[in-house]
Amino acid sequence: MTDIRLNNITKSFGSAEVLRGIDIDIRNGEFVVFVGPSGCGKSTLLRLIAGLEQITSGDLMIDGARVNDLPPKDRGIAMVFQSYALYPHMTVYKNMAFGLSLGKNSRQEIDRRVRHAAKILQLENRLTHRPSELSGGQRQRVAIGRAIVRNPKVFLFDEPLSNLDAALRVQTRLEIANLHADLKNTVIYVTHDQVEAMTLADKIVVLNGGIVEQAGMPLELYHKPRNLFVAGFIGSPKMNFLKAKVTGLADRMLHFCLSDGRTHSLPVSGTAPHIGTEITLGIRPEHLSADGEGIGFAASADMVERLGDVSYVYATLKTGDKMTMASAGTSLVRKAERITLKARPEHVHLFDETGRAIDRPLDESWRVDGVARPDGDSGLM
Ligand code: ADP
Ligand code: MG
Repeated sequence: MTDIRLNNITKSFGSAEVLRGIDIDIRNGEFVVFVGPSGCGKSTLLRLIAGLEQITSGDLMIDGARVNDLPPKDRGIAMVFQSYALYPHMTVYKNMAFGLSLGKNSRQEIDRRVRHAAKILQLENRLTHRPSELSGGQRQRVAIGRAIVRNPKVFLFDEPLSNLDAALRVQTRLEIANLHADLKNTVIYVTHDQVEAMTLADKIVVLNGGIVEQAGMPLELYHKPRNLFVAGFIGSPKMNFLKAKVTGLADRMLHFCLSDGRTHSLPVSGTAPHIGTEITLGIRPEHLSADGEGIGFAASADMVERLGDVSYVYATLKTGDKMTMASAGTSLVRKAERITLKARPEHVHLFDETGRAIDRPLDESWRVDGVARPDGDSGLM
């Protein structure tokens, strides 16, 4: 059992507070991804958990015990860095065995662990090579192997795929997913890449400016972003945003006016924003179509990118707002064509003037696939 709990954690370097009250709950065996833009505090948070950096305030709990002051080696944690940090003069075997001190482990035990890790990582025929004789992907696997031999309760990965080319990144991503499926250890994985986060995570924690914007299952973040930041960060191409002004509310229908002067209405389910305040509509490119039903936006197609399976239509509305539509690869829309972009009401997100999502009866069909946890716990305390 290795449950990790971060309770109101802060971290300051001098007068700069880089983590500002972080609450995260990580369950035994969970694959948790911290994702966010560069500089948001991901690595710092990982280093606090590893014990490589002192926590300024708050509690770090591992299996119910406060470990703020426990030395790194006693935390049962192994960390894999972006720069593999291998010893260039040592063989793959020695690199993996190095952290296992003789005395604590017998020579046979060390040998067993190194060979076991090499087998898992398909490095068995590379054990006598030096790092300079390996590909980037193999070097990264040695770095992971060095963590595996320590048999940690928790793996920490800090952007482990950043130095690999695109194809190798996808392959190594799958290997890490398989590794977790086999070993079932708790994993905390840091990346700035939302695709990596979406594909690997049981739970994603979106960080921004030293705070947690949202924590939840990948599809939960995609379908129910809690604010404008998460809505814009998760999903590619990005969600389209349009400004509007609230003009009325009656029978749970919110009426609003777009900047072209046209009014629309959408059902809301929670607290509605005040009349006269500004709201933002958010519509994902894949939820727009040129021949569907729903709210329509007259536009002109500026450019069409045909990728084969999908075509991206970049359009400008009469108001000057830009919108991106993802349509089927067979779409006939052409550059300079006048089109009406349509979005079904259950696919339109609304955000109030502070950027917080307004509760709406959104499309919940994704929950039926068995992706949602029965208790619906997002993991955020
Ligand atoms: P990320 O990994 O999300 O890119 P980091 O955790 O590395 O971000 O950094 C978060 C912020 O903390 C940055 O503004 C960075 O400059 C600052 N920072 C990180 N480490 C130190 C340090 N040792 N001393 C001073 N500032 C630091
Ligand atoms: Mg970092």
